[in-house]
Amino acid sequence: MNNSPHVVIIGAGTLGMCSAIHLVEQGARVTVLDAQAIASGSSGRSVGVIGTQFTDPFQIEIRRHSMRHFRQWESLGLKINRIGYLRLARTDAQMTLFDQSVKLQADAGFRSKVYIGDELLELVPHMNPEGLAGGIFGPDDGFVDPYELCMILAERVRAAGGIVKQFCKVLGGKRVAGGYQLDTSAGQVSCDAVINAAGAWAPRVAAMFGQTLHVRPERHEAITIHLDQPLGYIMPMVMDLVNGEGTGLNFRHEKEGELIAEVHKVASLPPEDPDAYNEQCEEESKVSLAELLLERVPGLPGARLGRGWAGLYPMTADSRPFVGPINPSEPTLITAAGAGGYGIQLSPVIGQVAADWALHGGPVSAPETERLVPTAERNVAA
Ligand SMILES: Cc1cc2nc3c(=O)[nH]c(=O)nc-3n(C[C@H](O)[C@H](O)[C@H](O)COP(=O)(O)OP(=O)(O)OC[C@H]3O[C@@H](n4cnc5c(N)ncnc54)[C@H](O)[C@@H]3O)c2cc1C
Repeated sequence: MNNSPHVVIIGAGTLGMCSAIHLVEQGARVTVLDAQAIASGSSGRSVGVIGTQFTDPFQIEIRRHSMRHFRQWESLGLKINRIGYLRLARTDAQMTLFDQSVKLQADAGFRSKVYIGDELLELVPHMNPEGLAGGIFGPDDGFVDPYELCMILAERVRAAGGIVKQFCKVLGGKRVAGGYQLDTSAGQVSCDAVINAAGAWAPRVAAMFGQTLHVRPERHEAITIHLDQPLGYIMPMVMDLVNGEGTGLNFRHEKEGELIAEVHKVASLPPEDPDAYNEQCEEESKVSLAELLLERVPGLPGARLGRGWAGLYPMTADSRPFVGPINPSEPTLITAAGAGGYGIQLSPVIGQVAADWALHGGPVSAPETERLVPTAERNVAA
């Protein structure tokens, strides 16, 4: 007889798989169920950037946990492409925030440096610095392959005795004595606790348990840019957005002669149906992205647009993820969802905290993340 709690995680994206690894490492019995394949939702459509160039102390603090786990998982074979992350500023006020961020990041153990005006060309020789006050650069940030991340974690979870079941859709759930019984496309599963890590589908999963969850699926697009010749330097992740101000244009090195670009839309977008949205990049978006790119980095050798795609950001009203129970009187029905455009970089800390809730009834390893609980004040329509 095994007395360790059995936790079912609904969703095998980055949030679900990171929850699973933290649970098996603490001896829990884990079953991850996904209606489709591992990382087939938003996680497999992301551009995988991980970084700490933020100005809000809480955002830096939670990333301290995430980056520690990413570093640990390198020993499992995860490749972190440390191309660096450059966030651009247009105003002196933003530069002041960047100066403060350098100090906050240093306290958290991260390297970063402020670049003023034309100094940006030291990092990106093709940069047009017109209209820019400068930027903040973290040399240790970069990108991971979210599919690889999920697959590595799935292998580890299975090696520890956990189950990761693909093409097994959760159709319903009910409370039974001491836990839950789930109806799935492959039969019934009983467990002590449930983690709803269903990304853009998380509201539908919550509704199966009679709960209301406000996660708005927002459609975002990414495009590859092919170059005629190698740049001769590595293009770091460049982001033209500070606390909602800027064009949202971002681009980074993918491989020699290839970049990936995205426009992180600032205005909130209408919600999409996660089962029926346009997964292609629209022509209009390609044109506006090309214009922004030409303006900021003119002269990229033979730049031409390649493959584009769209995916969903699972958004919350305050743009912070939900981690914890919706109903305080039901602490074993846990939400881990709503990570918006940061669900790769935040997945390790979200998984850590979701596991805390399942096994310890609260965020014991990161008490400050009590702020991520989907309370009635936070769990509202955007
Ligand atoms: C274009 C784009 C670029 C992005 N770039 C970045 C980036 O650079 N950095 C970053 O940090 N984030 C980025 N993101 C955001 C990131 O991809 C998401 O926040 C993250 O992937 C969300 O992960 P998740 O595990 O919550 O959801 P998902 O990956 O969508 O996983 C949810 C899973 O639940 C499953 N599921 C749903 N319903 C059921 C059910 N009833 N039964 C069983 N399974 C079910 C689904 O099949 C799915 O696999 C980007 C997103 C997009 C679209």
